Amino acid sequence: MSSLYIHIPFCIRRCHYCNFFSSTLIEQKNSYIKALRKEIQIRSNYLKNKQLETIYIGGGTPSLLSIDEINSIFKTIDDHFCLAENIEISLEANPNNLNEQYLSALRHTPVNRLSIGIQSFFDEHLQVLGRIHSARQAHLCIQQALQAGFDNLSVDLMYGYPHLTLQQWKENLHFVKDIPHISCYCLTLEPHSQLYKTIQQKQLSLPDDDHIIEQTQVLTDFAHQHQFIHYEISNFCKENFHSRHNSAYWQRKPYLGIGCSAHSFDIYSRQWNICNINSYIEFLDEINTHGDYQNFENRLFEREILTPAMQVNEYIMTSLRTIYGCHLDYIAHEFSLAFAEQLAKKISLLQQDNYIFSHGILRLTEKGMLFADAIAAELFFDENDYLTTNE
Ligand code: SF4
Repeated sequence: MSSLYIHIPFCIRRCHYCNFFSSTLIEQKNSYIKALRKEIQIRSNYLKNKQLETIYIGGGTPSLLSIDEINSIFKTIDDHFCLAENIEISLEANPNNLNEQYLSALRHTPVNRLSIGIQSFFDEHLQVLGRIHSARQAHLCIQQALQAGFDNLSVDLMYGYPHLTLQQWKENLHFVKDIPHISCYCLTLEPHSQLYKTIQQKQLSLPDDDHIIEQTQVLTDFAHQHQFIHYEISNFCKENFHSRHNSAYWQRKPYLGIGCSAHSFDIYSRQWNICNINSYIEFLDEINTHGDYQNFENRLFEREILTPAMQVNEYIMTSLRTIYGCHLDYIAHEFSLAFAEQLAKKISLLQQDNYIFSHGILRLTEKGMLFADAIAAELFFDENDYLTTNE
């Protein structure tokens, strides 16, 4: 199974909390898409298995693309890959780009899953977060997306930001109770964001840890009450509506990332494309499509070979965040029996404190989910552990 990620880095305006790679120079869109299509052409060999099971068009704001632009990208994908019959093809969208006409045309492209960045249904929150859509647009686009036939619909919501009351958080969740997939992210205050400055200047303040825990509890209760499966720390779905693309990341499946800043993974190494749109466009404009792609290293991407300790740590970190858990027999088989045995010993204190439970598969308890990153870090191996276990 292989996956393809395509990055569209353009946004009309930066949201106040954003730390993703994005640009407001939308006039570069045409040249960027041309470069992107060329990159698909020259990098298709990165994936040994050319059959794609999932494609994800993320950003930035992919819904800034016209229908013709979306179709042109799929034409290039079709020329270089084979698409599985039941392929999942997701596109991220913002409410202000969506209307009946666009959504109906989009439904006639290969896109079969839509992920809309709503964040909140309250105008006052959307202003705090610097979103450019209104609460009315948020409600309307969900209705229109369902009417257009996007049954496989996902909505992003945010919590843990200034001014969000518990009652408003409950109302935000109530509005998405019948949506098949929701992603709920607790705000991370990014040091270079506008929101960070505003908070530093004491114009706004963040909720304290107790409030965040309360909001997390409301979310967990809501999920139970409305039959959502809490399949990853920030992701909830009705049965059979999990994101297959993101699940592939969490299960260490190889993927190719196309576009500025996109990451790729082939199990043994990770590589990431440059984060400069001008250089990206210029480079792809210059190169000959028959060139040796391996020579492009450092001009188009950087690469890191993953040591066994890095590979097992990544597996621990991502698998612990999911309902599927961290399988000790998988670690024994894929990495080393000694790693699996050491890990089984390391978890005893975490088990006593009710952060983790295990029957050969390590899974976080609800309490453990609040500290997932710290728990994973406690379980990490270093290079010496690997050398010692393999002596
Ligand atoms: S739409 Fe997404 S990528 Fe664009 S600025 Fe807002 S948060 Fe960042």
